[in-house]
Amino acid sequence: MRDQFLNKWLNINHICPLCDLAPANRSGPCKRCEADLPYLLQGCARCALPGIDGVCTACRESPPSFSDVYAGFNYRFPLPQLIHRIKTNRDPEPLYWLSYLLAKSIGQQIDPRSTLVPVPMHSWDQTLRGFNQSELISQRLAKLLRLTHQSQLLRKQQRTPHQASLNRKERTTNLQNCYELNEAIPKQVTLVDDVMTTGTTVERLSALLINAGCDRVDVVVLCRTPR
Ligand SMILES: [Zn+2]
Ligand SMILES: [Zn+2]
Repeated sequence: MRDQFLNKWLNINHICPLCDLAPANRSGPCKRCEADLPYLLQGCARCALPGIDGVCTACRESPPSFSDVYAGFNYRFPLPQLIHRIKTNRDPEPLYWLSYLLAKSIGQQIDPRSTLVPVPMHSWDQTLRGFNQSELISQRLAKLLRLTHQSQLLRKQQRTPHQASLNRKERTTNLQNCYELNEAIPKQVTLVDDVMTTGTTVERLSALLINAGCDRVDVVVLCRTPR
């Protein structure tokens, strides 16, 4: 028991968080599991919708206010399970190595003049969970890629039903007037979120920033859901 505790504390005999088997000498998954993760290799040129060559129908018919979406992973096994575990166990640890892999895969695409801004949670929800996963990803990316990070720019004033429980129309209405700007707006912003599903949240925030005078908004997400 004492040895187990010491090993954990010293971070030696670390086991892979995905296969629980292969030994790894650092945090994060073993080389094999890292290579097997569902990296997003092809997606819509605007919204990163997986499997699209060029621009998807939704972006062609109604172009979003943001310019580009950079997504690290397709939201497929084991990502939904990992994200669920992070939220229910209130354990942000996997976000550190996931952010490292995100920086490695899409970091070079982020314009260094852009300021990273996490998608905010309502303060109650953040207190209940203990952290805002988007803020942790944004902080980590800023550190790894030496980018500016402004975590207090956006604020969520109202608690809203979870987006996943609503249809597309309800999602848009759900988010109306629920965000506000707190600070002076940078010329260029890169919004950071954990999972992008329909894109309603980032679209609302991007439109808010553009209307307030921001020149360009891009989006970085850990995972992008398939259609
Ligand atoms: Zn493994
Ligand atoms: Zn698209």
